[in-house]
Amino acid sequence: MPEFDTQFDVIVIGAGPAGLMAAGQAAYFGARTLLVEKMDRAGRKLRITGKGRCNITNAVPVDEFIAHFGPNGRFLYSAFYQFFNVDLLDFFANLGVQTITERGGRVFPVSNDADDVTDSLVRWVDALGVTRWQQAPVAHLVIENDHAGAARIAGVTLANGHTHTAPAVIIATGGVSYPGTGSTGDGYRLAASAGHTIIPIRPALVALDTAGKTAPQLMGLSLRNVRATLLIDGEPAASEFGEMLFTHFGVSGPIILTLSKRAVDALHAKKQVAVSIDLKPALDEKMLDTRLLRDFDQQGKRQFKTILKDLLPKLLIPVCSDLTGISPDKPGHQITAQERERLRAWLKDFRLEVTKHHPIATAIVTAGGVKLDEVDPRTMQSRLVSGLYFAGEVLDLDADTGGYNLQAAFSTGWLAGRSAASH
Ligand SMILES: Cc1cc2nc3c(=O)[nH]c(=O)nc-3n(C[C@H](O)[C@H](O)[C@H](O)COP(=O)(O)OP(=O)(O)OC[C@H]3O[C@@H](n4cnc5c(N)ncnc54)[C@H](O)[C@@H]3O)c2cc1C
Repeated sequence: MPEFDTQFDVIVIGAGPAGLMAAGQAAYFGARTLLVEKMDRAGRKLRITGKGRCNITNAVPVDEFIAHFGPNGRFLYSAFYQFFNVDLLDFFANLGVQTITERGGRVFPVSNDADDVTDSLVRWVDALGVTRWQQAPVAHLVIENDHAGAARIAGVTLANGHTHTAPAVIIATGGVSYPGTGSTGDGYRLAASAGHTIIPIRPALVALDTAGKTAPQLMGLSLRNVRATLLIDGEPAASEFGEMLFTHFGVSGPIILTLSKRAVDALHAKKQVAVSIDLKPALDEKMLDTRLLRDFDQQGKRQFKTILKDLLPKLLIPVCSDLTGISPDKPGHQITAQERERLRAWLKDFRLEVTKHHPIATAIVTAGGVKLDEVDPRTMQSRLVSGLYFAGEVLDLDADTGGYNLQAAFSTGWLAGRSAASH
């Protein structure tokens, strides 16, 4: 980093996926580009995505893709129209990163290594001549008024007090989750200083705490092919099929994370929140009853806890006994019709009361951020300050797990970088 003030065509704040893509695109289109990162290394969060495997994107078609963002997803049509999942995979193939599509359309690098994805992006921006500074946090935006009195960006001031000028600045600072990666919400403050509205931030994909000792008893247990239904004030609000996990404090895993945003909103609205788990979603009540009758009949001399081995994972057996009130030692032929009914009901509705959500620092994504109405979706330029652009999670966009969030970061970065280069 030089000890004097310098001039660029485009300054990108934040070297995450959105900022790296934006800087590379701007440089590719001939802009003298500066990429400033506050941490000592680019892409710290990108390196831990997908449990270190990096779920780059998802292979589903655009409408289905956008549905995973909820109503705000509409904002992304323009960016996705210009640079979508197939384009991203071509882009990475050109950088030497081959990919593979897995269950649910999730796309990963063949190497299963998020560092490969990150390093390929860093090499790419370096090869394009982007000036890259690390440990260089941006403290302020420099905004001036043109002769007509309209606001326009003029540059940035770093924490060391130096100002660097450019007619275009891209804010790609991410959200506030996993602050150890550098995402500490600076972009919200910078955007607000430019007059932008910040939609209140809250966790979007986050683990949920549950009441009682059930979850700690089941800690480490992962359930596949179950259906979890979120109940708000006792009413089903959303339902997901797939995999979930018990932790020492409650529940997590893909389907819980997907349900969590609605749970967070309901908890903040002081509503009663519960998760109901259908442990046998493939069997309707009648089929399940037939199955239980058969099991108890055929294994009449065996104890309840032994018969359950065919139905449930080991850790769930004592919990099932506790919650249904059926003695684990009772032989199958002594189990009454009422007990069988209680078991059947529990297998279809294993319910946990949600007491709170985990802190936003532990969320996978931050909901809320720069209000979308104030950003032009065709260019990512601010509608309030000329030359100011946004890309990535700093925007009021968040999606389910499955590679959707990274694609949004890459696509908005791609568009912001190109637009800023021609500003
Ligand atoms: C554990 C985990 C796993 C995830 N896995 C996946 C996954 O597999 N697939 C998926 O699609 N999504 C995943 N996500 C979400 C995804 O990582 C984010 O949505 C994405 O990283 C957002 O990209 P971004 O470039 O907008 O922000 P970030 O990746 O947060 O990057 C922002 C950058 O800006 C820098 N910065 C911040 N403030 C300043 C400042 N003042 N000056 C200079 N630099 C600054 C930060 O240091 C950081 O490097 C995961 C998230 C987490 C936490």
